[in-house]
Amino acid sequence: MGIALIVHGGAGAIASDRFASAQTGCREAALIGWHKLQEGHSALEAVEAAVRILEDNPNFNAGTGSCLTAEGNIEMDAGIMEGHTQRVGAVANVERIKNPISLARRVLESPHVLLVGRGAQIFAREQGIHLCRRQELLTEHQQANWQHAHAERAARLQQQHGTEPSYYRTELGSTSASATSNHLEDSDEKHGTVGAVALDSFGTLAAATSTGGIVYKYPGRIGDSPLVGAGFYADEQSAISCTGYGEDFMRLLIAKRAADFVARGMNAHAAAEAAIALLGTKATGTGGLIIVDHMGNLGFAWNSTHMAHAYITQDMPEVIAGV
Ligand code: ASP
Repeated sequence: MGIALIVHGGAGAIASDRFASAQTGCREAALIGWHKLQEGHSALEAVEAAVRILEDNPNFNAGTGSCLTAEGNIEMDAGIMEGHTQRVGAVANVERIKNPISLARRVLESPHVLLVGRGAQIFAREQGIHLCRRQELLTEHQQANWQHAHAERAARLQQQHGTEPSYYRTELGSTSASATSNHLEDSDEKHGTVGAVALDSFGTLAAATSTGGIVYKYPGRIGDSPLVGAGFYADEQSAISCTGYGEDFMRLLIAKRAADFVARGMNAHAAAEAAIALLGTKATGTGGLIIVDHMGNLGFAWNSTHMAHAYITQDMPEVIAGV
């Protein structure tokens, strides 16, 4: 059995002028994780290190470069799991954290499984994790995405009711959140999470996922990424990280379903295909996932337009990246 690692940089429609940066970013992250495995570190260490690199890369929707909520805030989610111990750590709706995956890792080391919002922030402080400024996480690209989504919504409301949107202006002004919710539709362009799964030299598996969520998401909305079994999962036979329209991944527990396919005898590749086929038949949302199984086989599949990814196994001379 050999060591193996695969990362993703989000499912969705990636503009062709962003192909190169998406692949380079995934390749860099895969290499960092790979070096950890080669040095004899655990799969848990490797997936955390790979995801941190992706979080620090402003081209991905996680950590620096996270998308904005409808109010213009940055609320991030992340989860990490080790297969043989079934230890899980996750954080949701966290602000001002540069590397949410490392906060999730600290949760994994604690008696908790999932901490959200203010509590997660208090925990971060207790752990000596520095709270950054929102500005440090904000990119021009995501600001432009927000402006675009806001203008679209204004136009839609104008057309339907003849009114301007009167809420969602916090970072940018006022706030009376009206009960008429921002209709969270799936759109191929709104995705972009990051994740990694690995098998280490001890034969143990780990999975990690981190995200800013979906562009212009409702404040407080949490997707699949920090939910064990939905956006990530690991057991003794496989490790999975998902990306895509979180509401459908939550409804269908896609990560756990993929793990169950492996447990029933499928290899990683077949399990990835089967889980995405299930998503396609049971839901309208799109997305993708990556898997590594206990034999070191890798699998990935998506039904969105693209999914940035990169992988390497012991038999490969170098990392392969694609979109
Ligand atoms: N699954 C993430 C969420 O719904 C988004 C993504 O993967 O792009 O928050």
